[in-house]
Amino acid sequence: MNYTDLACSGGNRWDELKEEMRAAASELGIDKIGVASAAPFTELKQRLIRHRQLGRESGFEEPDLDKRTEPALLFDGPQSIIAIAVAYPSKLPSPPKSEPGARRGVMSRSAWGADYHKVLRDRLARLEAWLRERVPELRAESMVDTGELSDRAVAERAGIGWSAKNCSIITPEWGSWVYLGEMITNLPLPPDSPIEEGCGSCTKCIDACPTDALVGPGQLDSQRCISFVTQTKGYVEDELMRKIGNRLYGCDTCQTVCPENRGKNWTHQRELQPDTELAKPLLVPLLEMGNKEFTSRYGATSSAWRGKKPIQRNSVIALGNFKDPSAAAHLVRILTDDPRPVLRGTAAWSLGRIGGAEAEAALAAALHKEMDTEVKMRIEQALQQIILH
Ligand code: SF4
Ligand code: SF4
Repeated sequence: MNYTDLACSGGNRWDELKEEMRAAASELGIDKIGVASAAPFTELKQRLIRHRQLGRESGFEEPDLDKRTEPALLFDGPQSIIAIAVAYPSKLPSPPKSEPGARRGVMSRSAWGADYHKVLRDRLARLEAWLRERVPELRAESMVDTGELSDRAVAERAGIGWSAKNCSIITPEWGSWVYLGEMITNLPLPPDSPIEEGCGSCTKCIDACPTDALVGPGQLDSQRCISFVTQTKGYVEDELMRKIGNRLYGCDTCQTVCPENRGKNWTHQRELQPDTELAKPLLVPLLEMGNKEFTSRYGATSSAWRGKKPIQRNSVIALGNFKDPSAAAHLVRILTDDPRPVLRGTAAWSLGRIGGAEAEAALAAALHKEMDTEVKMRIEQALQQIILH
C-alpha cells in the first residue's frame, strides 16, 4: 500500500500506517512507540535557559538551545517525530559479593550489556527500513542520546511515559528501565497524547539522592549528580568522592527507589543482558588494566565512551571509600608510579581515607618526590587526615 498516494487521493491513511507501525513495533525489537508533533519545544527551551543560568548543565549537552528545541532547524520540513523505547534489565542474575580483599565496584544499569546507542540505532534503522517499504518518499533523521533533541521531551510529548520527579521518563508498562530514541520524519503521522503524570505526592527519589542533586521535582543539578560526576576526567571534590561510594560509572539510586520500578526487570532484549563480571567488577584488576584490555573488555559497552581514565579514577575512589587496608599497596603503586596526576592525587585521598602506618609512610615518601603542585597539595591533605584521626 502506498500511503502517500492514499493520503493525496483524499483518504487520510496516516492513522492506519501509525497503527500498523505500532503493531509491528515488537517485531522490530521496539518495546513502545509513539508519535509527537514536530512543533518547537518552547517550554523546554525556557527550562533549558534557566538550567544554564543556574550552572546546572553537565557540559555533555548540545550547546545550541535552538537546535535542542526546534526540529525544523535539524530537518527540512519535519512533519512528525516517532519516539521509541527499548526496555533493559534492572537485576543481575547472580550478583557477586564485594568482600574484604576482593572489593568490587558497580556499573550503572545503563552500562550493562551492549552499548544502548548501538542497540537503539539498530532499532531505528529497522523501523526506517520498515517505513520506507511502505512510503518510498520517506525522509528520516534518527537520534539517540547524543542527538540535538531531548529524548525525554520527545518521549513525553509522544505519550511514551511521564516526565518524572527523578528526571527520567516513566512508562506505565516498563517503569523507567527504558532507553529512548527518536526519528524526525516528513510523514504527517497523527500525534499521540502525553500520558498523565504519575508521581503524585511521592518524593522517594528526591529523598534518596545521595548528593541532593535533585534540587526539585524534575530539576537536576548535573554538577552534583553522581551519574555525571563519574564520567568526568578531572579531580572530584571531597564531599562528592565520599558519596560516590563504589560507583564506577553512573548512578541508579533515584530509579531503584522508585515504586514504579518495583519488580520490573526486563530480560527479553538479548544484547542488553549483563555480564556480571563487567557489571560488578573487581576493583584492583581494573586499576591494573591497560588500554588494550580495557577496550577488549568494556569497548562494546556504553561506559567506554570516555576511555578508561574516569573508571580507573572511580576505582581508586571506591577503594578509599571501602577503607580496606589490603588495598593500600595497590593505591601506593598508583600514587608513586602512575603518569596521570589526577590518578596520583586521587590515590593520595584514598590512602588518607584508609589510614594506617603503610599509607602514612607512602604518602610522606611521595611528598618528597612529587613534582605536580596539585598532587602535592592532595598528599599533604591526606597526611593531615591521617594525623587528625
Ligand atoms: Fe542523585 Fe544518583 Fe539520581 Fe544523580 S543519578 S540524581 S546522584 S540519585
Ligand atoms: Fe516519581 Fe516517586 Fe518515582 Fe520519584 S520515586 S520518580 S517521585 S514515583
